[in-house]
Amino acid sequence: MNFDAVIIGAGVIGAALALELSKAGFKTLNVDKNHDAGMGSTSGSCAIIRVHYSTLDGSALAYEGYFDWKNWSDYLGVEDALGNAKFLECGCLVMKTEQNGFMKKHKSICDELRIPYEEWDSKLIKEKLPIYSQDSYSPTKRIDDEDFGKSNGSLVNSGIFFPTAGYVTDPQLSAHNLKVAAEKLGARFKFDTEVTNINKKNDRVIGITCSNGDVVNAPIVINVAGPASFKINKMAGVENEMNIKTRPLRQEVVHVPQPKGFDFENNGFVVSDSDISCYVRPEHGGNILIGSEDPECDIREFVDDDDFNREFTEQWDNQVLRYAQRVPSLGIPSRKRGVVELYDASDDWIPIYDKSSLNGFYMACGTSGNQYKNATVAARMMVGLIQYCESGNDHDEKPFKYHLTKLDRELNVGFFSRLRKINPESSNSVLG
Ligand SMILES: Cc1cc2nc3c(=O)[nH]c(=O)nc-3n(C[C@H](O)[C@H](O)[C@H](O)COP(=O)(O)OP(=O)(O)OC[C@H]3O[C@@H](n4cnc5c(N)ncnc54)[C@H](O)[C@@H]3O)c2cc1C
Repeated sequence: MNFDAVIIGAGVIGAALALELSKAGFKTLNVDKNHDAGMGSTSGSCAIIRVHYSTLDGSALAYEGYFDWKNWSDYLGVEDALGNAKFLECGCLVMKTEQNGFMKKHKSICDELRIPYEEWDSKLIKEKLPIYSQDSYSPTKRIDDEDFGKSNGSLVNSGIFFPTAGYVTDPQLSAHNLKVAAEKLGARFKFDTEVTNINKKNDRVIGITCSNGDVVNAPIVINVAGPASFKINKMAGVENEMNIKTRPLRQEVVHVPQPKGFDFENNGFVVSDSDISCYVRPEHGGNILIGSEDPECDIREFVDDDDFNREFTEQWDNQVLRYAQRVPSLGIPSRKRGVVELYDASDDWIPIYDKSSLNGFYMACGTSGNQYKNATVAARMMVGLIQYCESGNDHDEKPFKYHLTKLDRELNVGFFSRLRKINPESSNSVLG
């Protein structure tokens, strides 16, 4: 079997890359060990689309990507027989806290990128979220701390609301949509097949070998294996020169019923609250989904992506009780529901979109729990990067500049380099 490019993984980013490479005329094959597109970490994603990051480049990428979600069916150019995923643009409120510098840096980034935002005061927050207490509880604690649940006496009573934000109702379906759109342009997908070797000749990748013995020849191979990215980089022998590494990090996401008296599903929105280290969003069926913003007091559980605990632990209780500080009327069900999944965490929580020391071998990984929203624009950027490198340019020496068409702005793709130093501007959390 011969292809122009093999993509390892068919999550939301791997499937988007298949579509964008196909649009650029490449004959592609995605190989994935799961049964269908988006069944890896993408399926457990909270699929929040937000446009604020702690870095200018991170925000620019996200705002560019937002326009694809807003016009999802137009972007795809197909109607999936399973239906097209929906982007619910409910907006996102970020509480102003000491931890996020009261959003000063974010506001200046948004001003530069012309990202719309609104200032919300205590009264407006009360009006929009009548179930919310505005007491401050920072620093975030674990529930076995004797001071857990005691307010520090100050208030969290203002925030920034971003209207160009929301969430996608079904992240797995969105990856499936991308697969269907890519197939229409000739892309091929091979499921239930594990990549077990990266084949090389001299200094160049020449293809892959699969667990069933199949060999696929291609001059370009791209690692989009999500939490398995480090294993694949190791297989290719490119991990040692990387300054930024990636590791699978276990995460629990809580689903609880919305409290009586407030229709969070229809009147709520995404809220990021670093005072209690929780982010939340409406979830269908009248539920609220509660994720963690990775406070210092929580232990980071790095695991093997093929062998980790898929049961809820006391982390679930910590997240739900932290949120109950903000919403005292929250009912806590005895049966734990939600998601246990993995981030592919990079050392500075910024992704790696890059080439490698092996010619023809590329990577889109280290997505650190915050790159679902960027799948389509990251895929386009990767196509540009591949074309740039394959025409003989040295991206490490003279980084590729990608033109963000919606923002009409150049993005230095060296920002996402595997060789970068840890970015001091990063939030060092899922917030990116
Ligand atoms: C709990 C959680 C919440 C999140 N919330 C958000 C959010 O709100 N907003 C946001 O923007 N991002 C969020 N993210 C991050 C986002 O979901 C990911 O960045 C994104 O889904 C990664 O997509 P991917 O295609 O790179 O990886 P994946 O979806 O993990 O796909 C990788 C694929 O590679 C395959 N694979 C691995 N190894 C092999 C092999 N050897 N051979 C063949 N196939 C292989 C796997 O089967 C898998 O299907 C969240 C992530 C998690 C886990």
